[in-house]
Amino acid sequence: MEPGIETGAVATTIDDRHGGDDRHGGDVSDEAFRAGVRDFIAERAPRFRMPEGVRVPAGTDEEQAIRAWLRGLYEAGYLGAGWPAEWGGNPHHRPTRDLILMEELFRARAYRPLDQVMLASHAILTFGSDAQKRAYLPRIRSGEHVWCQLFSEPGAGSDLASLRTRAEPDGAGYVVTGQKVWCTDGQWADQGMLLARTDPTVDRHAGLTAFVVPMGSPGITVRPIREMTGHAEFCEVFLDELRLDPEAVLGEVGGGWKVISSGLASERAFVGANAVQLEMMYDDLVALARHARLADGSPLLGREDVQVTLAGVLARVEAARLVVADTVRRVMRDEEHPSDGAVAKLVYTELNVELCERALELLAAASWVDDEGREVERRWYEAFLWSRALTISGGASEILRGIVGRQLLGLPRA
Ligand SMILES: Cc1cc2nc3c(=O)[nH]c(=O)nc-3n(C[C@H](O)[C@H](O)[C@H](O)COP(=O)(O)OP(=O)(O)OC[C@H]3O[C@@H](n4cnc5c(N)ncnc54)[C@H](O)[C@@H]3O)c2cc1C
Repeated sequence: MEPGIETGAVATTIDDRHGGDDRHGGDVSDEAFRAGVRDFIAERAPRFRMPEGVRVPAGTDEEQAIRAWLRGLYEAGYLGAGWPAEWGGNPHHRPTRDLILMEELFRARAYRPLDQVMLASHAILTFGSDAQKRAYLPRIRSGEHVWCQLFSEPGAGSDLASLRTRAEPDGAGYVVTGQKVWCTDGQWADQGMLLARTDPTVDRHAGLTAFVVPMGSPGITVRPIREMTGHAEFCEVFLDELRLDPEAVLGEVGGGWKVISSGLASERAFVGANAVQLEMMYDDLVALARHARLADGSPLLGREDVQVTLAGVLARVEAARLVVADTVRRVMRDEEHPSDGAVAKLVYTELNVELCERALELLAAASWVDDEGREVERRWYEAFLWSRALTISGGASEILRGIVGRQLLGLPRA
């Protein structure tokens, strides 16, 4: 843990964008809240465009702009509103407001809050000591601290509990040795949430502990991985005799599995915003069919087979929207089924892949794309290259199907 950090709890900065100081509470209608979010995004969101799937800033200017944007979202009370009031949350907050925020961020194609930071906040609020809360929560709100997750390893992904990175007690604290991989944002994160094995002699889940790791510590080497998109969103992280204080433990020693499982389940309300993205992708597919031309200059949209394809896709998008809306309704009422998250993610990510494939088929059938269609064409190439990652991160499709089979359909474990 970083020494000497003592900034205390922060209060939410309230402005009167929504005509009062209770914008997340009962006094402001959802419509007024949504309008306020739209205005805020139009005024304050970073102006630069990032390719689909890219979250890592290209340089210092972009990084500063992203940190300032995240700070602005917290200061305005849009992010962190669900936190306890003593840490800057709004006691009148309703989860539907999180959903509206995410929908509008998607619609505006604005930079979205980093999952890793939101998961870290949740873990610190739930499991952190008072000292950890004082040290880290204000710095998340100020955009000073970006977090990453050090969970996966070359030999441990879906079966994360088989991880081999060791954190061995040495009297003064822990000495950590191992290798992590696929660490999103590792190259610019300030803090990492690490999962490591502290006790190899007990049940493999019970032997794991979560730690807070300052990413600049001696013993950490971060190596970005270049992907087929041409960008580097992930990193390998080598931990070579990294020394951690006992205060770096997040939660209980041996309680790491609980810490990371709770964090991963905390963002379910945001799943609903994915339906908006699918609708936007459908619109993009129609736009592509309009601007992609046959050799005689006519748009692909005029072809009957293309219209049939679009109609089929629209039906699936609508079905996905209903599934997701149903999930969101249950989540908001705290009535969700354990497999709801798996169903919603499967529906969203697999349809995302399918939409990308249909787009590339349209491009293959076209002779050229007119000038007005250039931007949408570029978006499709980027989305296609990124779409497979969605079916792996946060639970690969095969794993999710297993969960649905067992928990929803009651099938026996294979
Ligand atoms: C966009 C993205 C961001 C990520 N960010 C992070 C991050 O920030 N930090 C981090 O620690 N990790 C991160 N990851 C890693 C991610 O958690 C792993 O990729 C994921 O858990 C899968 O693990 P794996 O890659 O080792 O694949 P494996 O687990 O080896 O799986 C390979 C294939 O086998 C299938 N498979 C595995 N087990 C079974 C089974 N029991 N039954 C049926 N099929 C099975 C899988 O579904 C998959 O298709 C990220 C991954 C992606 C794609």
